[in-house]
Amino acid sequence: MITPLIIANWKMAIDADGVEAFKATWNAKPSIHGIEAVVAPPAPYLPLVQGLSQLSLCAQNVSENEQGAHTGEVAASMLTDFGCQYVLVGHSERRQNQGETNAIVAQKAKRTQAAGLIPVVCVGEPSHIRSEGHATSYVRDQVLSSCEDLAEDLVIAYEPVWAIGSGEAASAQVASEMHLDIKAVLADRYPELRVLYGGSVKPDNCAAFTMATGIDGLLVGGASLSAESFWNICASAKGAE
Ligand code: PEP
Repeated sequence: MITPLIIANWKMAIDADGVEAFKATWNAKPSIHGIEAVVAPPAPYLPLVQGLSQLSLCAQNVSENEQGAHTGEVAASMLTDFGCQYVLVGHSERRQNQGETNAIVAQKAKRTQAAGLIPVVCVGEPSHIRSEGHATSYVRDQVLSSCEDLAEDLVIAYEPVWAIGSGEAASAQVASEMHLDIKAVLADRYPELRVLYGGSVKPDNCAAFTMATGIDGLLVGGASLSAESFWNICASAKGAE
């Protein structure tokens, strides 16, 4: 049985007061056993969320370079200093807005693993690719190119671009089919691969995903900003175990 992995991606949508409010609410909640809950704060707030009960830490991004003259970048080794265990790489917002290609994503994932951290490689098709009927081949290509030469310790997050922040989640069936395809494509190299679903997950739709075949957890954006709502999602994933 794979332990469900539930990651909160706060993006750049929270401030320091918001982090403190999250902590106060989260720490007052009962513990949830049988899942792994993870939070990905903006990088400067990593020290603020250290020691949050029952939450592992994830970075939202990492440099593809090891160290040196790269102003504004954060090296994977620095993230280990702040107790991170995971790093999001290739989130669709970075692929779109920062021009991150599959090759750059693969390099970032490699740096992440070299520092002893686990990359969460994000993939997903834009809406026009799905309406043209090419979603599966598009995601297969992203997965193969973004995971080139990676060791086994990695997680994939399938996040259809059209579902992120839109309020229009994929159906659990669409997500499940894609997850199973991703696992099949990588089965030889990563037999134990965990694949998360992300895209407009909320407390009222999350159980459909966590109960679906091939879905090993969730990557949650907007609904993770409130500790109450993120706790409810985590509790529901526990119920679906
Ligand atoms: C995300 O940013 O990874 C995400 C899934 O966002 P949302 O849950 O808001 O769609």
